[in-house]
Amino acid sequence: MKVTEHIQRANGKTQFSFEILPPLKGQNIRGIFDAIEPLMEFKPPFIDVTYHREEYEYKEAGNGLWEKRTVRKRPGTVGICSAIQNRFKVDAIPHILCGGFTKEDTENFLIDLDFLGIDNVVALRGDAVKNETYFKAEAKGNKYASELVTQITELNQGIYLDPELENTSKTDFCVGVAGYPEKHMEAPNFDTDLKYLKQKIENGAEYIVTQMFFDNSKFFEFVDKCRSIGIDVPIIPGLKPLATLNQLNLLPQRFKVDLPDDLVAEVLKAKDNAAIREIGIEWCAQQSKELIVAGIPIVHYYSMGKSDNIIQIIKKAI
Ligand code: FAD
Repeated sequence: MKVTEHIQRANGKTQFSFEILPPLKGQNIRGIFDAIEPLMEFKPPFIDVTYHREEYEYKEAGNGLWEKRTVRKRPGTVGICSAIQNRFKVDAIPHILCGGFTKEDTENFLIDLDFLGIDNVVALRGDAVKNETYFKAEAKGNKYASELVTQITELNQGIYLDPELENTSKTDFCVGVAGYPEKHMEAPNFDTDLKYLKQKIENGAEYIVTQMFFDNSKFFEFVDKCRSIGIDVPIIPGLKPLATLNQLNLLPQRFKVDLPDDLVAEVLKAKDNAAIREIGIEWCAQQSKELIVAGIPIVHYYSMGKSDNIIQIIKKAI
């Protein structure tokens, strides 16, 4: 079922959804199943599975020669989505990127998803890969998420790259896109970023999932700004519980998000990571509670394959 239908059917009751990463290459899917199993008690409307681009490395092949090898550390997004849908009878939502895909690759990817009964996708640009200073699209690929949304919308209308396929069949994907309550790191300013977010909606995206934030006022201000410029689709807040001391620097560095003073002070007083995990649970539960009271239709958790803290958070929040 489409995310938009899940929201309509819930009739104002807040639902909880989750995002997981594919296992590292070489690991099996058991860890994913074990993480999802206990989350099913909350009857999630959907589970997102992130997509990770291929990167390359050079290895010495002897005789002064170098061999180019593909390293995809977390493969299997499509297969994992299919396995989740079959096993748990819940909608699985693959993330799909501009980066690393030509438009033809994208079309083939979407056709596969359609065959597998996937109803939703989250359309993203992706980031620069190792050794790139800024994001580079494929020569025949989409440069921005807004272009990817257009391609998906066209496929939904039966418009294929290959004219021979035109009007043979239509997909019917509901498309989600990313939004940034603290602005995307590359955007010159907030208003410009919002203008491009609006473009994604005008091109056919039907809902927004936000980057993580640790201060709900940033989310509420973001929603107000979106509404003021005519973005009227559901905006799903993404929450991540803080769990380790390293994240105090890592999250702001990698995701350009602020951590509130009170949270930082509590973490710095904690004696070890176990205590920090508890602080993260409490903080995220308070955030969740406030979002539920505000009538937010879905709260989305970046569970990163760990469910124990997420379970505690939701139980404390409801
Ligand atoms: P876009 O919407 O294309 O925006 C990228 C930047 O370009 C922004 O600064 C925007 O303001 C600007 N921009 C947009 N359109 C234009 C234009 N026409 N002209 C000039 N500038 C423009 N990454 C992964 O690799 N895999 C994942 O599974 C994944 N999942 C994610 C899920 C969520 C909810 C979020 C928030 C992020 C996720 N990411 C993922 C990270 C994401 O790929 C990066 O944040 C990326 O840098 C931007 O992606 P986007 O889709 O927001 O890009």
